[in-house]
Amino acid sequence: METIVLKFGGTSVGTIERIEAVAKIIKEAKKEAFPIVVVSAMSGETDRLINLAKEIDDNPPKREFDALISTGEKVSAALLAMALHKAGVASKSYSAAQISMKTTSQFSKAKIINIDFTKIEDAINNDFVPVITGFQGITDEGDVTTLGRGGSDTTAVAVAAAMKSLRCDIFTDVDGIYTTDPNLVPEAKKLDRITMEEMLELSGQGAKVMQVRAVEFANKYNVPVRVLSSFAPGTGTLISLEEPNMDDMEKAVVSGIAFQKDQTKISFQGVKDSPGIASSILGPIAAEGIEVDVIIQNISNEGRTDFTFTISSIDRDVVEKICNTQLQDLDFNNLIIDNNVGKVSIVGVGMRSHAGIASRAFQALANNNINISMISTSEIKITLVINIDDVNNAVKVLHHEFELDK
Ligand code: ADP
Ligand code: ASP
Ligand code: MG
Repeated sequence: METIVLKFGGTSVGTIERIEAVAKIIKEAKKEAFPIVVVSAMSGETDRLINLAKEIDDNPPKREFDALISTGEKVSAALLAMALHKAGVASKSYSAAQISMKTTSQFSKAKIINIDFTKIEDAINNDFVPVITGFQGITDEGDVTTLGRGGSDTTAVAVAAAMKSLRCDIFTDVDGIYTTDPNLVPEAKKLDRITMEEMLELSGQGAKVMQVRAVEFANKYNVPVRVLSSFAPGTGTLISLEEPNMDDMEKAVVSGIAFQKDQTKISFQGVKDSPGIASSILGPIAAEGIEVDVIIQNISNEGRTDFTFTISSIDRDVVEKICNTQLQDLDFNNLIIDNNVGKVSIVGVGMRSHAGIASRAFQALANNNINISMISTSEIKITLVINIDDVNNAVKVLHHEFELDK
């Protein structure tokens, strides 16, 4: 039977009224294909649980932390199954453990390994709409894990890949993917389509409308994904698997702008410039599963150089500890840890065929007195590290400069 995965985010299931509205969307979707539903916790719930844990311990035991913060999704899944029942649609809720959604054992950053879809198939064959808890999994030992903030998106795409579903529809509080966060720039425009490549970069650089892991899964397993609103009807944005045609590429040089504020910049100043310094600094950090983003090593001066990189601020405490223990013996003059940084990224496949995008961006920022501290580029992306207080303005300036509001 043809299936379609429908994922509902926190605001979409934020109240009983919203949950009942979602039940109606699912009932309607059942006419197109058999729905498999994935839900997030009710909005604010995951934050509430995190704060409860922090009241006890700033650094609580990781296993218990995941056991706690995964509970929000169980509540919304059961409530939605009840609402479906009331709307005349037979349904059963399933936790990750009940469908053996196996993950790695890195708590709070676990990665999905495989899903036993016999339970899901059983439900479908008996005409029960399965409602699956997003954001969580279990280890081989049976411990509950979570997939990182926004992880329900990844659950949804993984289920769609495993079930070879027709499509994965991500229902959220905006009616699609915009040229930048419409909550920051009201002039942002909704895109009807976006390429997988561009979405990978936008999500990877902070557009939280979809967790980057989810886009990676969609890309790897060729899952068509659509992002749309659960609040208003519409066709949303399709993340297309096809290559864009040249006409579209000519039209839009830049497709979107992403930004991230929760960044930390770490600089080893005056580090001895010898083979292997990059790996001796970044090796222990990678071993903790921490992602390092923009990396810059300066030209060396009298055998010493500066080595700088950015990480997500969530990982700051762990990285600081590594710097002060494992990296203590490294030969350097100063360690500077700066929390006042953010990143702005310009993304577009059209950059391949257009030169001068970077200099246009630099000029626009300079005209607005915004200082750039680090730059990194890829074929379809330019990332700029700037002061955190300049991020909002930089997004607006660049959005206007590249005429994304037109
Ligand atoms: P959900 O709870 O449904 O998962 P999220 O809050 O995780 O919703 O993601 C939706 C939010 O993503 C939007 O409200 C918007 O503020 C933000 N966002 C950031 N960048 C974009 C973008 N380019 N297009 C649309 N939304 C974006
Ligand atoms: N409830 C989780 C969070 O708030 C997962 C999600 O919403 O996707 O991050
Ligand atoms: Mg989300």
